[in-house]
Parts: sequence; structure tokens; C-alpha cells
Amino acid sequence: MQDVVQNQAQGNESVTLSTSVQYLKGVGPARAVVFENLGVRTVADLLEYFPRDWVFAPEAIKIGRMKPDEEATIIGLVESIDFRAYRRPAVFEAIVSDDTGTCRIVWFNGGYLRNQIQLGQFILASGKAAVYKHQLQMTNPKFMVLDEAQTEPQKQFSGGVYPASGKLSSRQIKQIILPVLDHLDTLAGEFYEESVLKENGLIGRKDALAWIHMPPDETRLNQAKRRLKYDELFLMQLGLALRRYRSQHAAKATPCVMSDEIDSRIRRRFPFLFTDDQNACIAEIAEDMGRTTPMNRLLQGDVGSGKTVVALYAALLAIANKTQAAIMAPTEILSSQHFLSMERYLKDSQVRRVLITGGMTGKKRDEILAQIRLGEIDIVVGTVALLQKDIEFRNLGLVVIDEQHKFGVHQRAEMRKDSAPHSLVMTATPIPRTLAMTAFGDLDVSVIKQLPPGRGAVVTRWVDRKDRRKAYDFIRDRLRAKKQAYFVCPRITAVEEGSQETGKDIKAATDTWKELSEKVFPEFQVALLHGQMPSAEKQRIMAGFRKGQINVLVSTVVIEVGVDVPNATIMVIEAADRFGLAQLHQLRGRIGRGESKSYCLLFAETDNEVAKSRLDVMTKTHDGFEIAEQDLRIRGPGEMFSARQHGLPDLKIANIIDDYDLLVIARRHAFQVVVSDPTLAQPEHRGIRRALIARFGNSLGLVDIA
Ligand code: ADP
Ligand code: MG
Repeated sequence: MQDVVQNQAQGNESVTLSTSVQYLKGVGPARAVVFENLGVRTVADLLEYFPRDWVFAPEAIKIGRMKPDEEATIIGLVESIDFRAYRRPAVFEAIVSDDTGTCRIVWFNGGYLRNQIQLGQFILASGKAAVYKHQLQMTNPKFMVLDEAQTEPQKQFSGGVYPASGKLSSRQIKQIILPVLDHLDTLAGEFYEESVLKENGLIGRKDALAWIHMPPDETRLNQAKRRLKYDELFLMQLGLALRRYRSQHAAKATPCVMSDEIDSRIRRRFPFLFTDDQNACIAEIAEDMGRTTPMNRLLQGDVGSGKTVVALYAALLAIANKTQAAIMAPTEILSSQHFLSMERYLKDSQVRRVLITGGMTGKKRDEILAQIRLGEIDIVVGTVALLQKDIEFRNLGLVVIDEQHKFGVHQRAEMRKDSAPHSLVMTATPIPRTLAMTAFGDLDVSVIKQLPPGRGAVVTRWVDRKDRRKAYDFIRDRLRAKKQAYFVCPRITAVEEGSQETGKDIKAATDTWKELSEKVFPEFQVALLHGQMPSAEKQRIMAGFRKGQINVLVSTVVIEVGVDVPNATIMVIEAADRFGLAQLHQLRGRIGRGESKSYCLLFAETDNEVAKSRLDVMTKTHDGFEIAEQDLRIRGPGEMFSARQHGLPDLKIANIIDDYDLLVIARRHAFQVVVSDPTLAQPEHRGIRRALIARFGNSLGLVDIA
């Protein structure tokens, strides 16, 4: 405590970036706790506690230069005050003067001012002047009482408006930050060389920090914002560039070399020609896999676009090079789906393959694990959870992760502990370019846009309540023609990622199932599927649907199965207005897999404009990328992109959509820096290195090199 008092008495003389805010003038232990709750611990945090808005007070003028009917800001000495309580409304009046003139200021209902404005004070007032009884008068102006010591009233009146808390007002925060700005010479070292600043039209870091908190004018505020956004994006990209560099250099992968013979041997397994997009992706993958640098590639394409087939090609390439491949999916249904589709192509081949399931226990499991360890199995398929746990490979050459609809960085990181297999992540979520540069900014990306040939069109319709009966009749006709249908029920409550659905979701699906099986389609087989059923039961139902024994499959949305049943040409989505666009698009990807025309019926009753515009987008386009961009636009980046979720620091001032152009420049710059100085050891990179460690902690392994 003694220390604290002493430090405070000294003022902010020896502040550094890592000084705790507790030792700043006007803070102390209690307020330090309040700051902590605002996410501010150190001086560095405080400097980046950016205002949420800014106020510009007009320049004060001399009283003698005031004109009637014009806005003016004046500073004057309070020469007399008067409160007339008997007037209706009550009036508080002050006469103020400077060396050029005198002005009367009145406030109606100004009783509260009796404790605020006193004789002999200086006040600043801002408002419109008028002539009243031959004298200039301001009525109800904005005002503030100035400190006598205060020589720059502008500073008090204008500046940043901070996100406040109940215990710390914006004004108090400002009073704590302003004195710190006097130390920017030592606190705000420049990150970049002069030439970089010039080339990119950036102002210096010191000015940027001073002006973001206390901008002299709008222009300089904008320059400050631009510079600080650049820094934020640059550091993020630098983190990604380093992460990429590390994953490429931490360990070597086995090169899996392609030859014409291997290529034609693999292609022979598939009863179709690859599409141009698939071929392009295969070429990119094969080039990566041929190197000792581990591949780190994302394969992106709509459900049904043929990603799995490309991944299988990659797996066969790994096997041709005497290594093993692991294919992981988020759920058991999906992994067995992968296994089944693999079986279709690998029938009678010598490739030794196994599906690992949760139900596999005891001796059988031990035997299989031993075979994998001895290299007697070539391809292992299972869920991410199963394969990450305790499986030891003899020589793992390739890991394929089907993330299906989720983005995940954590899973990638965990897989590469001691070995460095090539890794290929598949996702059916179209990733807008902004996310490709941020959340996935350390990966290479391959994209499949074109669907395999022979796919029937998918017609999407929005069905209102009054048309439901007609829709059921329509579906009944299709079912009679031996087609099959999905009914998907909505997520009723928000569910944590990774958890199973709630009881409510199951109830909704169960109700729909009862209704359909008893009343609407009693003559057909209607089955229910939800995530909390025993695994064997789920498998049985999926098999029944695949074989066509089940006509209608009702499910909760948790079952975003990548099922491939070409004969299922109808999908009904209940309460479709509750789904996000991306999710609707993914669900719809389950149909349209055969040659005949498919129908996606969105059941929704809503007056909500946003919901309507979403449904509209769905009926108009089938392009996943367009849908993703629309989704991002309708919902904003907040929901879809939380930086922290992807292991990146949160953005405080930049926005990846609005600041896309800056993002592109910062990314190029950051990747250049890492090429020239991969450990940021050169003296000119000291500043960015420190800033990077402050943001990422030591997840980038920079600390030990210091
Ligand atoms: P995804 O993994 O992207 O959902 P899949 O690889 O599972 O897509 O392919 C979906 C379906 O399309 C499968 O039945 C597959 O056999 C078929 N398919 C994939 N590529 C082609 C192609 N080039 N020509 C014809 N059919 C293909
Ligand atoms: Mg798939």
C-alpha cells in the first residue's frame, strides 16, 4: 500500500507498457478491479481501450465576436448568478464575461445548477446566441465548469467517449488515459520502417495513439483509426504467418510422390471422370504431398460436390507411398458413411481398411490397434475423438479431417504432436474470402465449385401455413412414385457447440414424427432419428432409409448427416425461419444427389423482415459462396466470426468485412516479414515481436527465442 501511495505521488513518471494500471494517477486497487472487468490490466491495455465515439467541441471564440442566431462556444468568468424560483419555469441565470464583452446565460428549470456554478469560476458554454432586452443571451447551452488550472478547455470538452461501466464513467476513464498520453514517446515505439508507412499511407504509431484518444479533428481521427486498424490486422496476420511457418518447419513429413502409374491406378477405382474442379484440387494436393513440408490444406466445397472422393484419392496416394492414412469425421454416423462410400470404390482392392467405432471394445479393439501400430492397416476411419485418443500409427502419412459444417482450429493443432503427417481438412461450409484470410489464414485452400454431372435441379419453395395441406399432397404423390423424403425439425433453443440437442428439440421432432406417421402419411414408413438415440439404433434407421425401406425420415438438426441417398428427393425444413442461411444451405445439400428433380420445402410462418429476406435468398440462389456472403451481410461478422474461437486475438478496432482492403495489404506485409525473419529476431522487429507476444501469449513459441 505504501508503495502504491508513493508511486501515485510520483505521478506517472516511470510508466511502461507492462505497468499495472493500479499505479496510475487516479486508479489504485479498487479501480484496478473495475478496470480488470473491462479487460484492462496494463498500460498497454489502457492505450488500446479505444473510445467508442468522439466529440468535437467547436473552437471557443471571444464573447465580443458572438453574433445573434449563430452557434458559438465561449469561455467566461462567472460574474453574477441568480436563481428565480418563483418563475414558471424556474430560471437560473449567470452573467459571464471575458476581456471583450459580457453575455447572459439562462437555464430554464436550472435549480440543480445552484450547486454547480459559482461566482468566480470559469465556464465553457456552447449554444446559440440571441439578443434579449438589448443584451446577448444564450439559452440552455451545453456547458462545463473549467478547472482553473485548466489551460486547454478543448481537451476537457472534446475527445473520446469510452465504453464505461457502472463504477467508472467515460469521463473518469478519459482523465486517467490523458496523462498517460504524455509518455507516448517511450510507450509507442514505431513498428514499421519509414518506407512501409509511406507506401501504405500510414501515420506514425505515436500520433495514432494520441489522436485516437484525443483527436484534434476528424481527419486526424480517421488517420489514427486507419493506422491502428492496420496494426491490429497486421499482428493477426503475422501470428498466422508464424503459425504457418512453424507448422511447416516443426517436423518433416514423408513425401508422397505421384507418378503416372500411381495416378492411373487410383483413377481406375472410380467409375466416373473427375470434374475439372476435382482435378485441379487433386493437382494442388499432390504437389503439396510430394514435399517434406507437411501439407496444411483446406478442401472446400458444397455437400455432394465430391470432396470425399478427392480425399480418398489423397489417401490412396499416401498408401502408394507406403504410409498410412486416417480419415476422421465429427460423428459416428459420418465416419461410417465415409467408410461405406469408401467400400464402394475399394471393393476387391488390396487396401486394408478399418472403421473404428465406439462400440468396438476389448480384444477386438486391441487387435485392431495392434495392426495399426504394426502398419498392417492402410486406412483407418473413425471419429475425431476416437482417432485422437490413443491410436498409434506405424507411419501416418495423411490425416483427413471432415469438419463437415464446423470450423475448427483446435483439432488441427492436436493431431500434430510428434509426427507430422500431411493434413487435409474438408469443409462443406462455403467460407467467405474474409474468413479464408483470417480464421483459416494459415492454411492453403482448394475449392470445388462445380457439382458432378447428372445432378437433378433442386427447386426451393417457401410454404406458408395455408399451403401446408397442398404440400403434403404433393409429397404423398412423390412417395407413391417411390421417392423418399427428409423432415428436419428446428433447433428450439441455442445449444452449445459440441453438445447434443436439448430435450425440446427431440420433442419437436417426436411430435412431427407422430403427426406424420399417424395422420399425414399413415400408409408409409416414417422413422425418427435424433442424436440421443443409441448408436446401433441410429445405424439401423440410416440403413433402412438407404435401402428404401423407410420412406420418410424425421430428424433433429443435430443430425446434419452427410448421408448420400440419391433417391431422397424431398426435404421439408420445419420452422425454416429459425435457421441460419448457411445451415439451410447445408441441409438442402442432402437432396439433389440423383438425376431427378428435387424439392426443398421451407415451412415457415413469419412476418420478420430479416427472416423473410433470408428465405428469399434461399429460394433464389444455390451458390454456397453467394449464400455465405449474404449471411455475413445480414448477420454481421460478429456472430459468424469470433476471432477468439479460432485461436486468434479478438479485434478491437478493425472489422474484417469493412476493412477488407486493409486486411489484404496487412496480410501481404506480414507474410513478407516472416519470410525475411521467421523468428522476428532482427532488432527492427523488436516492437512487433513484443506486441505479438502480448496478444498471442507464447502460443507462437516466440518467448523462448528472446
Ligand atoms: P462430398 O464429400 O463433397 O459431400 P462426395 O465425394 O461424397 O461429396 O460425392 C458425392 C457423390 O457424388 C458421391 O456419390 C460420389 O460418388 C459422387 N461423385 C463424386 N465425384 C463425382 C464425379 N466426378 N462424377 C460423378 N459422380 C461423382
Ligand atoms: Mg461428404
